[in-house]
Amino acid sequence: MCGLVKGKNDQPSKQSDIFYRDDFITAYISPKWWKNNPGHVIVIPNTHVESLYDTPDDLSNKVNSFVKKVAIALKEAYRCDGTSIRQHNEPAGNQDIWHFHVHVFPRYTNDNLYKLHDDFRWTTSEERMPYVKKLKEIFLK
Ligand SMILES: [Zn+2]
Repeated sequence: MCGLVKGKNDQPSKQSDIFYRDDFITAYISPKWWKNNPGHVIVIPNTHVESLYDTPDDLSNKVNSFVKKVAIALKEAYRCDGTSIRQHNEPAGNQDIWHFHVHVFPRYTNDNLYKLHDDFRWTTSEERMPYVKKLKEIFLK
């Protein structure tokens, strides 16, 4: 994910997935989708830190306050019924990318996100584009 921060494509993510960036954080549409929850968001600090454990408070606070803005933006942009936040540390905690990141999911009544844990797919950047556009419209206001 450091690649994304540095302005490169970082497979499977691309620069075109990013809808927000400031001096401290970057936010983009995840390439990995669960079938009833398309277009979920990943928020990362621009500085490389491996997990929540290593993240200084001022930085994790910046990530968290943006996560809140994303959750509220998803309500408006996706018209979802709710939202869920997930953050993973270490392999036993389902971490599989070694740069601290927080997932923000749009939730829908009876979407079974947790029951369908193994039912995900990798998307194309073209599929992600409409979601990037919706969130850009909100964050560039
Ligand atoms: Zn990194």
